[in-house]
Amino acid sequence: MVFGEDALESLEGMKGRRALVVTDKTIRGLGFVDTVIKHLKKAGMETKVFDEVEPEPSIENVMKGVEIAREFSPDWFVGLGGGSCMDAAKAMWVLYERPDLRIHDITPMTELGLRKKARLACIPTTSGTGSDATWAAVITDKQESFKMELSSRELVADLSVVDPKLTLKMPPQLTAATGMDALTHAIEAYVCQWRNDFSDAMAIKAIQLVFKYLPRAYENGEDVEARERMHIAATMAGMAFSNSQVASTHAMGHAFGAVFHIPHGRAVGLFLPYVMEYSSKVVMNRFAEIAEAVGIKAKTGEEATKRLIECIKDMRKKLKEPLSVKEMGISEEDYEARLDELVTKSCQSACTFVNPRVPGEEDYRRLFLYAFEGKEVDF
Ligand SMILES: [Zn+2]
Repeated sequence: MVFGEDALESLEGMKGRRALVVTDKTIRGLGFVDTVIKHLKKAGMETKVFDEVEPEPSIENVMKGVEIAREFSPDWFVGLGGGSCMDAAKAMWVLYERPDLRIHDITPMTELGLRKKARLACIPTTSGTGSDATWAAVITDKQESFKMELSSRELVADLSVVDPKLTLKMPPQLTAATGMDALTHAIEAYVCQWRNDFSDAMAIKAIQLVFKYLPRAYENGEDVEARERMHIAATMAGMAFSNSQVASTHAMGHAFGAVFHIPHGRAVGLFLPYVMEYSSKVVMNRFAEIAEAVGIKAKTGEEATKRLIECIKDMRKKLKEPLSVKEMGISEEDYEARLDELVTKSCQSACTFVNPRVPGEEDYRRLFLYAFEGKEVDF
């Protein structure tokens, strides 16, 4: 992991023959692909660019990239962009190395045996997903309107380049939504059932950084210090949840995002306060610790937790992120028509079983309904 301004120069030290850069048209338009290629060429590498990654990439989209990879035979995959680009690069890399596997086979139980043909470098351009530090990749099954949560320890990148320069041009709303994703990763990692001392350290530091620097990065995109600290926070939050887990906020966010085509950061950020209210019934002490770490003063754990959740709601208001589903322009009719599906998908998510308080169908239904209205969770 190389971080800080000009971290990109570290690409020049890579050893290899051919690098396939996996990215999208926006990133290319910003000139980042040219910069990365310049550094890869200095490392003596031949390069090819696949710039057709879609937002929330589908299986078909991944397969298109796999075809290119099979023709080009890279020994490096370079995922350059937000979570979509890095996750697509991970999935392409697996299927390139293992043509005998299907995408659904990417699970912690499968021995993938990667790194016989190629390795993976990740270069994030948003400060949210943490995919450059995680063992996860989310790919959408369009037919089923379902987000597949793929994971394998082998998917952790060989090289992660965390250069804040790449985030300076991120528009405010993308800064806000992706920043809320990072915060959600850290909070879920800190309270979920798989939490441990290693992930706690990463999670708490990431939460402190997001509280301090996300509003600044949103207000002024050119604030280099805020950009750098947010970029580090996102990667730390990725390390936190890769060594712990994400939980019900992600289960709901994935279901909702897949059904209503809402970008990941916005979807999970929306459900964060509701799931915190729900989980606080069993892990109030953990939320109180977070509150203390971000400087919230309170006499009791209950008060601290309440204030922490209020702070997050206030932050969302400042960042002009929606606080309820209703605010997002989704009609009650459309929402109710898909409610069963949202509940079933959330129950099926692997993220559900590690939530501090595991919701069943009935609780998920109520959580979705409360989030629609923007009501405080009282059950
Ligand atoms: Zn996330």
